[in-house]
Amino acid sequence: MYQKPTILVNSDLQEGVYAASGAAASCFSGSAVIDSTPQQNGSPYYELWLTGTHSGDHYSNGCQYIISFNQNVTFFDMDGEGTGSSNGSILTVNYDTSARAIKPSENVGHGRVRVTAGDNLEIIGVQMIETGAFNK
Ligand SMILES: [Zn+2]
Repeated sequence: MYQKPTILVNSDLQEGVYAASGAAASCFSGSAVIDSTPQQNGSPYYELWLTGTHSGDHYSNGCQYIISFNQNVTFFDMDGEGTGSSNGSILTVNYDTSARAIKPSENVGHGRVRVTAGDNLEIIGVQMIETGAFNK
């Protein structure tokens, strides 16, 4: 028995499919710099400054930084709207910018993130993934 196919309209699904494509994954580029190492109760933590650049033909409601270091780090805290977590030498920071969508071409200063680590912390690499592409 033939059943007419249904078209699934689901904005979340569309975003997910879009974000999984190579184009969407590369529409953000970012940098992370170690800005300062203030003292906190005798154990140093490092302050990172994250900035991203969005370039695409669409708007964005969110992005994720994946930052790798030369040693293990522990997420401490951060300023602004976002969540962070650490796993070994990898720090992951998610920003939800749905309150003010990032434009197709826009530089974004995401702000400060603090981690604890041993001496001589260095950033090895920064990867950015879009988590909320949409078209207007
Ligand atoms: Zn994008």
